[in-house]
Amino acid sequence: MSDDPTATTSPPPPRYDDGHVQVLISQERVAARVAAMGAEIRAELGDVPITCIGVLKGSFIFMADLVRALGGQVRCEFLGVSSYHGGTRSTGVVRITEDLRHPIEGHHCLIVEDIVDTGLTLDYLHHFLAGRKPASLRTVALLDKPGRREVDVKADHVGFTIPDEFVVGYGLDLGELYRNLPFIGVYSP
Ligand code: 5GP
Repeated sequence: MSDDPTATTSPPPPRYDDGHVQVLISQERVAARVAAMGAEIRAELGDVPITCIGVLKGSFIFMADLVRALGGQVRCEFLGVSSYHGGTRSTGVVRITEDLRHPIEGHHCLIVEDIVDTGLTLDYLHHFLAGRKPASLRTVALLDKPGRREVDVKADHVGFTIPDEFVVGYGLDLGELYRNLPFIGVYSP
């Protein structure tokens, strides 16, 4: 042990491996891509305050890293959303479970999604928020599964295009677990 009270010792890295998750995108690749996307979006929007709207819960970790990568003036808002999927096909019914805390009229807004799958959620949210008259409304998704699309929607900025696999980690869950994995992994039972 060091005598220096300000010295820090690194604890051993936590274990995540339960045998069900295989790394698809490493922590390092996620970090590099999120940093690049932040710079890309900031360059496109210029030096304006950006209102980031995180879609709960899956986007919370991505949002936390993205707002730091954006720099400049950023406001953080969150939307609670639940999608109802009836039978084997998606019904396309999306419900807002928690609304924004502040008006966004006249704001430059960025919808922050974890993953676009069928596209129903992003499509719904885009219409829902456009109705509140933001100055601009852009969308960013960390992941895109274009193979499963049911409506023709594409995020303006996409981190990674992935195959049709069920992924967890970096905010994405399975039964509320795995959100704390620092990487994106494919779940297999
Ligand atoms: P969409 O409306 O585009 O079909 O789906 C959007 C939501 O479905 C995402 O925000 C996410 O919560 C969930 N989702 C879609 N694909 C996956 C996946 O591979 N893993 C996880 N954990 N959630 C997913």
